[in-house]
Amino acid sequence: MSKVLVIGAGGVGSVAVHKMAMNPDIFSDITLASRRIAKCDAIAESVRARTGIIVKTAEVDADDVEATAALIEKVKPALVVNLALPYQDLSIMEACLKTGVNYLDTANYEPRDEAKFEYKWQWALHDRFKEAGLMALLGSGFDPGVTSVFATYLKKHHLDRIDTLDILDCNGGDHGQHFATNFNPEINIREVTAVARHWENGQWVETPPLSHKQSFDFDQVGPKNMYLMYHEEIESLKTHLPEIKRIRFWMTFGDAYLKHLEVLQNVGMTRIDPVIYEGREIIPLQFLKAVLPEPASLGPTTHGKTNIGDIATGEKDGAQKTFYIYNICDHEDAFEETGNQAVSYTTGVPAMIGAAMMLTGSWKGEGVFNIEQFDPDPFMDMLNKHGLPWQVKELAGPLEF
Ligand code: NDP
Repeated sequence: MSKVLVIGAGGVGSVAVHKMAMNPDIFSDITLASRRIAKCDAIAESVRARTGIIVKTAEVDADDVEATAALIEKVKPALVVNLALPYQDLSIMEACLKTGVNYLDTANYEPRDEAKFEYKWQWALHDRFKEAGLMALLGSGFDPGVTSVFATYLKKHHLDRIDTLDILDCNGGDHGQHFATNFNPEINIREVTAVARHWENGQWVETPPLSHKQSFDFDQVGPKNMYLMYHEEIESLKTHLPEIKRIRFWMTFGDAYLKHLEVLQNVGMTRIDPVIYEGREIIPLQFLKAVLPEPASLGPTTHGKTNIGDIATGEKDGAQKTFYIYNICDHEDAFEETGNQAVSYTTGVPAMIGAAMMLTGSWKGEGVFNIEQFDPDPFMDMLNKHGLPWQVKELAGPLEF
């Protein structure tokens, strides 16, 4: 029986709060706060209609440490679940330190003026969380999140050692729009247009954005082109599972998405430096976000499935083995259950599960932790029970690319 404060009323916040309300034994008291209270109220109304549970709501600017700390003092939660944007990670962590409350998020901090996903700023808070006797759990979404737990699960149950790890993120969904992103467009476009980096033999290998393409036949989705990208869990996995010689991350994109993105980049609309427009500064990418569909609005029209998982090759009892572990999530099923499409669903459910791990004491610690530092088993059990079932297959051999 615990009180939780969720910050961020987007698609991910909506799913997490719906799923918390469906587990009142763990989440006995839920407050949802965001920059605009109207969005929180709309989610609270959907939760009430679906589950009968009352979610309290509040308005907060989470960039403001004092205001966030004041809200935490008022609500007195056991845990703050940060489902706002990566820009707010440090200010919400500071507010948690100020008020003595545990912290969880799904995406690592990123400075607004630089598309740079790195854990260094959040890891630097480890000693302060430890000294305060508090726990911060970073990256409890799907990727990062479930994909890192999948890796530790394979290491615990199927392999003595992982040599290579490939994370494959496929969204086979169709939302019927010419161009839209499935989560926050600003964060999504910054991520996709960044230089691709993977980890190999103890060093980072950089390649131009979207320059490495492979076709892969995804179960229940079919063949898709996927592209090598940088993704933040590579940094934490190479730190916490240092035996892995190569870690790569792949994401699927359709040709129409890439064509639009190329044009938007060529005309300067994805720039994150300010330009002067009618006498005032605007950031082109933030303006673009304002004219694109809100990810949360794509739910009713999106159909198809996501398939996200890990392929790990390593050694078991002296023999080389390769395992593939993945989840398939249906956009329409996710929408029916929570009013949100599968990209929000696959992030919001693990956020709820990570919160449950902390609130029930299944995962304990003092300091700042990544998700792969804990026992995967109780988290994997909850994935099966709460809408994200997974399967493991042994493959004939390692990936040939
Ligand atoms: P949205 O943009 O839909 O939602 C973000 C919410 O945060 C909005 O309600 C927004 O308010 C609110 N917000 C923004 N700034 C502030 C602020 N200063 N103070 C208070 N609230 C604020 O994003 P998503 O729901 O799609 O994503 C949420 C998080 O999940 C992001 O950090 C994203 O990177 C992460 N994510 C992680 C994934 C994973 O697998 N690990 C996958 C997908 C997303 P407003 O509506 O007013 O703008």
